[in-house]
Amino acid sequence: MPLANCKECGKLFLKVASDICPECQRKEEEDFNKVKEYLKEHPNANLSEIMEATGVGENKISKFIRAGRLSIKPTCESCGRPIDSGRLCPECRIKLLKEVRNVLAPGSIKEYEDTFLLEYFRKKKL
Ligand SMILES: [Zn+2]
Ligand SMILES: [Zn+2]
Repeated sequence: MPLANCKECGKLFLKVASDICPECQRKEEEDFNKVKEYLKEHPNANLSEIMEATGVGENKISKFIRAGRLSIKPTCESCGRPIDSGRLCPECRIKLLKEVRNVLAPGSIKEYEDTFLLEYFRKKKL
């Protein structure tokens, strides 16, 4: 069996199925249960509410969502409203795209639309 570094804590462990070590896996299950319990009582909670109430980080929660274990909808990074997929709601996308269009050369926007939007948004937020 191959040895691997835990993606979570960096410790060397015997890799079986997961890319994190048993210890981190156990912790992750605890986090998952916390979030699941919270969602049972607050089915309409959004990501930031869940993070605040459970103390579980955004990365972990996103991981659960991506793995299909949680069914909360992602929220727009700009205005916080629930969205179906991606990181921005359609309205914020359009708004941001208009702003980005002003700083980018025409033509370059199509190819890099998403990366630019995200990068631009990140910088703006800081
Ligand atoms: Zn670990
Ligand atoms: Zn939005």
